[in-house]
Amino acid sequence: MTGNQVERDGSGRVTVDGEVPAGDPGDRRDCDVLVVGAGFGGIYAAYRFRQMGLRVLGIDGAGGFGGVWYHNRYPGARVDVDSTDYTFYFSPELYRDWRWSERFATQPELLRYLNHVADRFDLRRSFVFGTWVTHATWSRADRHYRVETDTGLTVAARFLVMATGNLSRSRDLRFPGLGDFQGDWVQTSHWPEHGVRYADRRVGVIGTGSSGVQTISAIAPEVAELHVFQRTPNFSIPAVNGPVDDAHFEGVCADVRGAREWLRTVPSGTHSRRGTKRTSDYSPAERQEIIERQWNRGGHEFAMMFTDQGTDEAANAIIAEFARAKIREIVKDPEVAEALCPYDHPIGTRRLCLDTGYYESFNLPHVTLVDLRSEPIETVTAAGIRTSRREYELDLIIFATGFTAFTGAIDSAGIRNERGESPTDGWKHGPRTFLGLMTERFPNLFFLTGPGSPSVLANMAAGNEHHVDWVADLIDHMRKTGATTVEPTTEAVEEWGEHVADVAKNMLRLRVNNYMVHVNEDGSRVFMPYIGGFGQYVQRAAEVASRGYPGLVLE
Ligand code: NAP
Repeated sequence: MTGNQVERDGSGRVTVDGEVPAGDPGDRRDCDVLVVGAGFGGIYAAYRFRQMGLRVLGIDGAGGFGGVWYHNRYPGARVDVDSTDYTFYFSPELYRDWRWSERFATQPELLRYLNHVADRFDLRRSFVFGTWVTHATWSRADRHYRVETDTGLTVAARFLVMATGNLSRSRDLRFPGLGDFQGDWVQTSHWPEHGVRYADRRVGVIGTGSSGVQTISAIAPEVAELHVFQRTPNFSIPAVNGPVDDAHFEGVCADVRGAREWLRTVPSGTHSRRGTKRTSDYSPAERQEIIERQWNRGGHEFAMMFTDQGTDEAANAIIAEFARAKIREIVKDPEVAEALCPYDHPIGTRRLCLDTGYYESFNLPHVTLVDLRSEPIETVTAAGIRTSRREYELDLIIFATGFTAFTGAIDSAGIRNERGESPTDGWKHGPRTFLGLMTERFPNLFFLTGPGSPSVLANMAAGNEHHVDWVADLIDHMRKTGATTVEPTTEAVEEWGEHVADVAKNMLRLRVNNYMVHVNEDGSRVFMPYIGGFGQYVQRAAEVASRGYPGLVLE
């Protein structure tokens, strides 16, 4: 990278001594399942597959467990789903023993939790860290993926499980002049373990999605100057963080297995409350009261108050205007408030940000909003950032510019079938998957929370647990039937794609550009995650299993 990128963490490579020891560079190891990624999905995958007696090796480029929570260490990083939901449910004892300290846990606490789980189930010995998969080629002759890594370690694996998340590969930075910048720069998505000094410095933040909003809110009080470079304003809702609801927690503890099953029946995979009536079922005064009450309760339920808010423009406009009025109320400078108000998309059609004091930050005298719609960035200079209007002198630039969603991590692993194709070669018009977990012509390849699964629209912890269970049951079925390879048919992939499109077709979200929407050259749009709800998704996946896996070719 160019310029003074704050040094990222060292490789932290750890050699393990488990059933499938990773060994030294140059070594070759055989395993049944190679799990790529050591976040929620990878940790549970290693546990579950090992329980089945499979030889498992986990690989992650990071220096330890955590996945997204390993890399996104930026100030203010915390989960935006209630911690008591965003957690493992597979072990009632684990659930009961871990006490989350806050409604929305911080990144350090999440990292402690994931390490705790890894240690509790003795998973460390199945993983090798500081190792990136560079190639994974399917060999039909011996029915294995031949996997190469950047450390020289090679692996032969019968099954390849990509537990790499869908928001893990950062979007490429394309800012002219970055190499000339004399200050420091860093990405929220790869925040170094040793930290970044921002207090008392002149800081610029580019990007106002969830990562930017959390970073800005956290650093604003401590920096000398903060310039927020905003291209598109997003709606941000108060998180209303606080202590865990003990009564709720105890209630779940009383029947963790029951709660796990119940979460698999509801659209969000969480205990969030969801409105059951339309906006028009209420008088304006009643509606206002519901919205106000929800604003004060905080959290993503703000996107679920009425059944028509995601599909009906007029209904949505009521809520959007409420949120804009709040921004105008909080932000003292009317011009700044107006620039922060989103008008170009219905509320909730881009994932809502949850914040603690985001809009209030703009009342601090040393915080400025740079509206890139009226003064676009021209170049990064030695001293800072020059827009069409002026130069902003900076000591530190923080890029919170997002991810190559859904396909980035799959592409990074260099997966190829025997024809030399990559899984995403056929995805020019949008992802082609079966249940968001598999794609055609790639035997024995699974990606957890992939496009076509509920992924970011539901509880990712619950999603990962479900996917691993489904894959584990499939592998078990293969063992029982003597099959060694499995892949979906083109028809099954197309059918699933049609269903994914069908459940999204009336959603306002489909019309709005953001990382969940794939836009084709002819203007047609594909909504990548499955928006039919986690419960409905789980049911469909269960039906596939109970009917003996129609749509899959088992050989
Ligand atoms: P994001 O939502 O994609 O936001 C990226 C931001 O960078 C946008 O404001 C974007 O502007 C801006 N940007 C990108 N390229 C730019 C450029 N060249 N010049 C100026 N601005 C540019 O990414 P994110 O904030 O990392 O969040 C992604 C998702 O991760 C979230 O939706 C959420 O699912 C997850 N997340 C969750 C949490 C949490 O649980 N608390 C925290 C962080 C992230 P445009 O909108 O104009 O493109």
